[in-house]
Amino acid sequence: QQDKMYCAGCGVGLQFEDSSKLGYTPEGALQKDPVICQRCYRIKHYNEASSMTLHQDDFLKLLGTIGQKNALVVNIVDLFDFEGSMISGLSRFVGNNPIVLVVNKVDLLPKVTNPNKIVNWVQRQAKEHSLRVVEIVLCSAKKNIGFDRVIEAVQQHRGNRDIYVVGATNVGKSTLINRLISDYSDLDAELTTSQYPGTTLDLVKIPLDDGKFIIDTPGIVYPHRMTEVVTKRDLSKVMPDRPIKPVVFQLNESQTLFFGALARFDFVKGEHQSFTCYISNAIQIHRTKLEKADELYENHKGDMLAPPSKSDVDELPKLVKHAIRIPRGKRMDVLISGLGWIKVNSEAGAELAVHAPKGIKVISRESLI
Ligand code: GDP
Repeated sequence: QQDKMYCAGCGVGLQFEDSSKLGYTPEGALQKDPVICQRCYRIKHYNEASSMTLHQDDFLKLLGTIGQKNALVVNIVDLFDFEGSMISGLSRFVGNNPIVLVVNKVDLLPKVTNPNKIVNWVQRQAKEHSLRVVEIVLCSAKKNIGFDRVIEAVQQHRGNRDIYVVGATNVGKSTLINRLISDYSDLDAELTTSQYPGTTLDLVKIPLDDGKFIIDTPGIVYPHRMTEVVTKRDLSKVMPDRPIKPVVFQLNESQTLFFGALARFDFVKGEHQSFTCYISNAIQIHRTKLEKADELYENHKGDMLAPPSKSDVDELPKLVKHAIRIPRGKRMDVLISGLGWIKVNSEAGAELAVHAPKGIKVISRESLI
């Protein structure tokens, strides 16, 4: 039996079977000396952090190691799916280490949105999650908005600590890390040759000019996000790529909105009122009567109600119903993780039902906008 081999770059145990898992190394790379995993190879030669993913248990183990270190934690979340991309239990795992909360994808909000209001909102949410957030930075890794502030915040808070970057998949972590790499690190010097301590540590260390590191952790997969259950083809429709144009509906009780065949929003009971949909504009919204909704779905999922298209619609987990009561006097959103949210504009209260694929997180929250 062959001895277990480890990557000379990051210390991960090498494997040759599954390119989507940590430690993957093409067989050919074994000829080289030192041997590094594909991920380190890419970072070294292309300045590119690939998106490597982990499931919850492994991720939590990994996070647990951060709590024992003196580190600055940079947690990237997706403003378009804030609750869906928050790492549950993060506060417990990082211990006393401070967190810079980088709220990415602000470019998706309508242009008129007041950033201070968003920051205040994020602050309240972070508090609810008991996160020791030393700074909240709104940014767009894609549109290069607020990025200087991210760097400043990291510099200001890190002292002489290493930086751990954590986040769910699809929040824009690679995009952001790649920016950091190209702006701030001295790659040629170190990545493959240094002997990193702890050869079982499944982390990629990116050297900084001052001898410290940015440590990129694999993205955690949260299957409760719509972005994780749709096909690749539909992902580009579900994830908006330009500012969302909110769509307002005046509804009477017993009316229903379909978001393609991905989800359904029933206004079950309440006064006539308006609802604003913040979802990707590539998804068609179809209004119907509640009493006709079941039948319409069965007959038209995949054609009139799309995405998903006919060929993909059966791949989608069955829709399950979430009953939601919006209390009187509160201004709230209903979030369908990864798909977007519906703002309940009136404060008159409402009884709602949201039908979303099984496993997808559906919650009500204080209104974001
Ligand atoms: P990772 O899985 O967290 O590493 O995320 P990626 O960096 O691969 O990005 C995931 C998706 O989000 C890609 O389609 C990116 O184009 C997109 N994305 C990343 N940053 C932004 C951003 O600031 N705004 C928008 N609109 N999309 C972004």
